[in-house]
Parts: sequence; structure tokens; C-alpha cells
Amino acid sequence: MIRLEPPRVAYHLHMTTVPGTFPQPEVQKPVLMDGNALRDLIVEQIGARMAAAGSPHVCLATVLIGEDGPSQTYVRNKHKFAAKAGLVSRNETLPANCTQGEAEALVASLAADPTVHGILVQQPLPSHLNNDAVLALLPADKDVDGLTAESLGRLVRGEPGLVPCTPLGVLRLLEHYGIATAGKHAVIVGRSTLVGTPLAILLSRKGVDATATIAHSRTSNLAELCRSADIVIGASGQAGMIGKDHCKPGATLIDVGISRTEKGIVGDIDFDAVQNIAGAITPMPGGTGPMTIACLLENTLTAAALQGVKI
Ligand code: NDP
Repeated sequence: MIRLEPPRVAYHLHMTTVPGTFPQPEVQKPVLMDGNALRDLIVEQIGARMAAAGSPHVCLATVLIGEDGPSQTYVRNKHKFAAKAGLVSRNETLPANCTQGEAEALVASLAADPTVHGILVQQPLPSHLNNDAVLALLPADKDVDGLTAESLGRLVRGEPGLVPCTPLGVLRLLEHYGIATAGKHAVIVGRSTLVGTPLAILLSRKGVDATATIAHSRTSNLAELCRSADIVIGASGQAGMIGKDHCKPGATLIDVGISRTEKGIVGDIDFDAVQNIAGAITPMPGGTGPMTIACLLENTLTAAALQGVKI
């Protein structure tokens, strides 16, 4: 695991003096939790760790099926940062109309290849393919996305293993920015196996010690529930659904949701509405997305170590 020194985040109350008046507190801006900067730091640290270990062969393989534009961009970025971190990476592609057998044969060949340490099957797969059957072929020690039944089982049981990248990225942001979690109430909006559920497990683990509540589309009084939280994580994909009514003063707000709108990419959090209320906030884009890549690389190193590479 990559350990990072937390920055010295200070919540100063700045005072301005207008002649003839008492000093007035300035409106407090939240701390911006910069995922791009933290990703770059983690990539640098992985690179240094690889160099110190004598640059062993550590390989990440991605499987991209079809021509989905955002998926192509995500995969390109994963390879770009893998190279920066000193990892070898390869991208295996199949056409959108490939058969289930072809998809499974490709993943099985990577699973059996001892020179490949981490395998990521880019989601979503074309709808005619059985995603679960493809994922089931991934050995848990190569499952750098942490999405197989065995990886999720290890997470629930607190056993060593690979943890889904986006939830891990959220944890790294909280650690790095010195956001207290022990005894704090975290509300996660979204209950998928990709984000919401593993994040709730990670936040409530011993050592992190938050009290995690999972909310979803059937939760009543969502605003009130979020307002009671010290940390709110939006992972619903509903643009701007978390606003000032969902935010208690000083709360930490983390945006995982991604919605593509006419205004560009926006998150679940109405960033402008909570500006004068939140204590810390991630931008969207530039927050959790880059951290997902950083944690994929961190997971690839963990995977290589699980397979006996000395790092
Ligand atoms: P899913 O669609 O699988 O899950 C969305 C969850 O949000 C569901 O649990 C759903 O509830 C809940 N939800 C939907 N609408 C509401 C609502 N109005 N109020 C409360 N809860 C609601 O999505 P994923 O978990 O896969 O992804 C979530 C978002 O995160 C997406 O926008 C995705 O693009 C983004 N994402 C971002 C990443 C990053 O790196 N930043 C990485 C991965 C995903 P229910 O279960 O009841 O339907």
C-alpha cells in the first residue's frame, strides 16, 4: 500500500478590517481536494518504489471491447499513467460484435499468462455479452478492478486482496487531505458493487472507523440524512442532486457521479450551491476520476506483490 504524508490543511478564519468597523470574517471557501495533484504524487511514488526495487517487470493488461468513446479515453489514460509509473502495460481489443467465446478466450489467456500481473476488463461490455461470466475468469490476485466475487468476498472478510479502484481513491483523498473519519458519519448515495457498497465497507473498516450509511433511490428524507453527515459521497450519476439542503456546515463532499450534459461533465454535487457551506470538496472533473487511475496502478503493484514480485 502506498502511504502518503497528509498535507497540512489549515482551516484558518481570515479576517478583514474595514476602517471604522469591527473585523468581519471572510466567507470561508472549502478546501479543494485536488485529485489530479494527488494522482501525480501517487504515480511519482510508485515510480520511485519501482526504481528502488530495480525496476522489476510489472504488467497491467486492459481488455477493451467495442468502440465506446469514453471507454477508449479511460483506457488510453490508464496506459499513459502506467508508463509514467514505470509499469509495462498492454491493451487487448476486440470488436463490439465479438462473441462471448472470444471475450472469454482473451481473458482466460491473460489470466494464464505469468507475465501479466493485473487485468482490467473495461466496463461496460457490449450488452450482448455476459459480464459476470467474463469477470469470473479473472484470478482474484490479478483482479485490479476488485470486482470479482472473490475480491469482494475478501473485502467483506477483511482479507488481503484487491479493492475496487474508485472507492479506494475516495479513501486516499480523505487520508491525504487529513479528513477525520473515526467516529464520523459518512453517507454514500449509491449502492452499486462498483462504488457505493465497497466504499461503505472500506469506510467502516477498523482503522478507518466511520459509521457508513448507504442511501439509494428508495431512501426517504435523503436531504435530511445527508445533512446529518460529516462526509457525503455522491455516487448516483444524477447531475447536481446534492445541493445546499444536503450539506451541513463544514461537511466534506466527495463527487463520484459523472453526468455528460450540454455544459460538459458534471457531478452529483451542485458545486456552486455548496461553496459557502462545505468544509472540503472534490471538483468534477479533477477529483475522483484521476484517483481511480492512481489506485488502479497502486492495485497493479499490490497484485504483482501477491504474485511474488519483490517490490
Ligand atoms: P449505478 O447506476 O450502478 O448505481 C447508481 C446508484 O445510485 C444506485 O444505487 C441508485 O439507486 C442510486 N441512485 C440513482 N438515483 C438516485 C436518487 N435520485 N437518489 C438516491 N440514489 C439514487 O452506477 P455506478 O455505481 O456504476 O456509478 C455511479 C456514478 O459514478 C455514475 O455516474 C458513474 O458514471 C460514476 N463513476 C465514476 C467513477 C469515477 O472515477 N469518478 C468511476 C465509476 C463510476 P438504486 O440502487 O435504488 O437504483
